[in-house]
Amino acid sequence: MQTKILTEFVTDPQQHRIETAVSRGAYQAWEKVVREIAPDDLIELVKKSGIRGRGGAGFPAGVKWGFVPRQSPKPKYLCCNADESEPGTCKDRVLLENDPHRVIEGMAICSFAIESHQAFVYIRGEFVLAARRMQAAIDEAYQRGYLGKNIFGSGYDLDMVVHRGGGAYICGEETALLNSLEGDRGVTRIRPPFPAVEGLYGCPTVVNNVETLSALPSIVNRGADWWAQLGTEKSTGTKLFSLSGHVKRPGNYEVEMGYSLKNLIYEKGGGILDDKKLKVVIPGGSSTPMLTPDKIDTPLDFESVVTAGSMLGSGAVIVIHEETCIVWVTELLAHFYAHESCGKCTPCREGTQWMYEILRRIEHGRGTMEDIDTLLDLADNIEGNTICPLGDAAAVPVISSIKQFRDEYIYHIEHKKCLVKSDFRLR
Ligand code: SF4
Repeated sequence: MQTKILTEFVTDPQQHRIETAVSRGAYQAWEKVVREIAPDDLIELVKKSGIRGRGGAGFPAGVKWGFVPRQSPKPKYLCCNADESEPGTCKDRVLLENDPHRVIEGMAICSFAIESHQAFVYIRGEFVLAARRMQAAIDEAYQRGYLGKNIFGSGYDLDMVVHRGGGAYICGEETALLNSLEGDRGVTRIRPPFPAVEGLYGCPTVVNNVETLSALPSIVNRGADWWAQLGTEKSTGTKLFSLSGHVKRPGNYEVEMGYSLKNLIYEKGGGILDDKKLKVVIPGGSSTPMLTPDKIDTPLDFESVVTAGSMLGSGAVIVIHEETCIVWVTELLAHFYAHESCGKCTPCREGTQWMYEILRRIEHGRGTMEDIDTLLDLADNIEGNTICPLGDAAAVPVISSIKQFRDEYIYHIEHKKCLVKSDFRLR
């Protein structure tokens, strides 16, 4: 029942080697692009496929590429965003480590479309194996002439560089990533201008996620219509979901967009750990609102998850069972965001820390009833008032958990302990 396209070969331990990858068709799409397809036609093909960014925002990839000014005298850049660090998300790492030539081929295709001759892959610092595999694969691609000068005798040149980040979550935000890549502190930039017009070194730049780029070879080989008929009308193709938390079989699953959340948890994931009851699902990474069991039939596509009251985000589905304290989960998330705030804007820098401290004192039995309203007030002052989405991401779990589990907060404050057993930890 899995539709394996991007992950077709990731379980083969030899797939990261160029001989194996080429024997399975790697770089055929790249050759076809360079020999037969003009950049504008390539952008049209990707637009027609309907593929939307897999990093979280879901913006149509072809439309993004179309924003790069064609006549700009400045160099153009592609940055592959491999700074995967949203809690619960581990899908890009699988592609980087196990099928790096697919990522490189996708990057090459995108670079050609936007007429860039320099591409970077910005890899999360902790991804040591991924960085080594990508570097080795890039070296192999140079040796075979898939990168470098005069690729396939076409006169087109492309260089590719691996850059390892320092381990800051904020560098997954595209403008902070660009600052970090330039050698500056990884803080966000105010937009506009958007990177497509003024990005790396002030030049037009496309920043695309690993999974988005990895889909391109298949789209070129099999056609835009083939990709568009997978998934739903507005959320085309397949998607990698990282299933974690209280499920029997956590892991990465590639399924068509629109696949049911229930089937992902109970069929792919084998159901809830220890056959407990489902309490809540965070469907798109820690920054997306929680869904209660009555939303279990929600199809996993961009539109349906919004209709259900949350977001598809990066596709990290975190499952939480009945014996988990929601105040504790929220404190955990608040700690993460307070730690990862880059500090550039006051509502996020101060608000995330205060939210964490208040949640901590409620969780430790020192909270007051006023704290609940103070938390909502803080979240309200952060949401929509910050430079980048991290502020909203930090506010969402607080608002969402209080809205749906206020009784647990009240119990905690009145009884100075959890309403449910809290000795179960997410794994
Ligand atoms: Fe930095 Fe937070 Fe402001 Fe984003 S919202 S720019 S992470 S302080």
